[in-house]
Amino acid sequence: MKKILITGAAGFLGSHLCDRFIKEGYHVIGMDNLITGDLKNIEHLFPLEQFEFYHHDVSKFVHVAGDLDYILHFASPASPIDYLKIPIQTLKVGSLGTHNLLGLAKVKNARILIASTSEVYGDPLVHPQTEEYYGNVSTIGPRGVYDEAKRFQESITMAYHRFHGLETRIVRIFNTYGPRMRLNDGRVIPAFIGQALRGEDLTVFGDGSQTRSFCYVDDQVEGIYRLLLSDYAEPVNIGNPHEITIKDFAEEIIKLTGTTQKIIYKDLPKDDPMQRQPDISKAKAILGWEPKVERAEGMKITYGYFKGLSEEDLKKSEHKDFSQHITR
Ligand code: UDP
Repeated sequence: MKKILITGAAGFLGSHLCDRFIKEGYHVIGMDNLITGDLKNIEHLFPLEQFEFYHHDVSKFVHVAGDLDYILHFASPASPIDYLKIPIQTLKVGSLGTHNLLGLAKVKNARILIASTSEVYGDPLVHPQTEEYYGNVSTIGPRGVYDEAKRFQESITMAYHRFHGLETRIVRIFNTYGPRMRLNDGRVIPAFIGQALRGEDLTVFGDGSQTRSFCYVDDQVEGIYRLLLSDYAEPVNIGNPHEITIKDFAEEIIKLTGTTQKIIYKDLPKDDPMQRQPDISKAKAILGWEPKVERAEGMKITYGYFKGLSEEDLKKSEHKDFSQHITR
């Protein structure tokens, strides 16, 4: 049985990856320090012999006994609200954490896949974003702690690949959504759905003309799975190219949820990218991958998940308007 270590296992993407690799017959070791992750996302896996969980912060030395075939490094805060609350941990997990896991991969002779992000393109001047684009990133802005950690992460990963001959993979993840997103993580989908469920107005930042392209989690996981098993070491964009403005998206959510609330406008957070859309030609050509789930379908499932949460969860998730803290 192949053994895989998944960091950030209790998070949104990490937990879905645990499910997928369990389904594929792997022995899965999940690791998480639970700062932003939630054990609820993986509690269904605890009874399985195929699954182990280590409560550990990968920014500190990582030890795993025995053989290891693969590592997926998905530990990191991943929303602007989290970078503001825990900026140092965000920098550390992308830099020190990645270094520790590359070291582990080297001693275990394991293949490692690193979760990078479309944030390496910053507020992009090239549209859609191809892997060749170098990006337009502010080193010192509020998102810099995430963006620069991820850029460093890509550099050190390529250095281990070139210098040590380590088998490495880099996925650049574009906005992804689905069940198990944290209702209060400040990201636009849980924010809007939470507001609709609590009977509050939907807060669009700026004039809502900024765009995003949302990928359903099952498509994202399929792309990552194929990339891990491919022999391609350079970064690959995985995301859904179907682009929409945030204002139009808010209107879609109003229709989907049937809320009688309206859209209200708030200041645009500092360094908020104005446009984002993946060019997925590489993923198509190299992995034979493209997204299958339309936004209408994915959002229906996601809304169903959030609707199923308890009153208590909903109360805990009061939307925190962080735009005030980081406006231009
Ligand atoms: N956004 C918004 N209202 C909210 C939360 C987010 O208009 O309550 C906007 C945000 O300014 C950004 C987009 O939605 O332009 C996506 O934000 P998210 O935090 O989900 O992801 P990212 O900016 O990292 O793509």
